[in-house]
Amino acid sequence: MKKTLALLVIPALLVLGGCQKSASKPEVVTTFEPIYEFTKAVVGDKIEVENIVPSNQEVHEFEPSAKQVATMTNSSALIYNSDNLEHWVSKIKNKGVKIEASQDVDKIKGDPHTWVSPKQAIVEVNTITEQLSKKFPKYKTTFNKNAVAYTAKLKKLDAEFDTLKMANQKTFITQHEAFSYLARDYGLNQIAIAGIDPEVEPSAATLTKLKSEMEKSGLTVVYSEENATSKLAETLAKSTGAKVMQINTVEGLTNQQKKDGASYLTLMEENLTALRKTIK
Ligand SMILES: [Zn+2]
Repeated sequence: MKKTLALLVIPALLVLGGCQKSASKPEVVTTFEPIYEFTKAVVGDKIEVENIVPSNQEVHEFEPSAKQVATMTNSSALIYNSDNLEHWVSKIKNKGVKIEASQDVDKIKGDPHTWVSPKQAIVEVNTITEQLSKKFPKYKTTFNKNAVAYTAKLKKLDAEFDTLKMANQKTFITQHEAFSYLARDYGLNQIAIAGIDPEVEPSAATLTKLKSEMEKSGLTVVYSEENATSKLAETLAKSTGAKVMQINTVEGLTNQQKKDGASYLTLMEENLTALRKTIK
């Protein structure tokens, strides 16, 4: 009896699932944490937004599941950061629009970490607002109002980072080359132990070069990212007598950070405090 009922119920669910207007289907889908936060700030409670990459997972290595591919395919708007980060987005044939949040950013070749600079976060929020307003014109006024409120917070953050331009010592060492936009926009000099992809390990020659660079600039801090291995940063710090400090690429949130109500804004404030230990 139960089996018969299940057989009847499943096709009915499939029919509902195939319908784009079904209430259970998110109209807007985002790829990973910062894009989700920016989008949520713009749409408020007007539209359901679903995020794909779990906030405690590495975006660089991520591949979506078949179920997630279906969610993205059914979306009216699929918002992602850039073609060279969430490369799997190009394979999704969604029914609606695809919005590359970084489309208006002045790009550094091969580097997707645009959001790590508050200046570029503002550009991305504006792009998301503009594109979503085109897709959902009836919410245009609300989206604009929400975006103004959120970008005011980003502008405050941007002004705080701008004060780093006045420092005498502007060099900082990071484990993963994720702060190039931040360095460019605020006049800093980033030296990375590993490349843009945190999984790529540096050579012994690179480590020797880094050691002499640290001595030259008198650096006593090596920054390592939360949510990533800190092995390289620890090795370098140990061999130079420096200490390791945490910095965040805001690619995701740990479960604890989520519990504590952390966000792009709070993590970037923490980054600023950490950077001020060397940039002064
Ligand atoms: Zn990264």
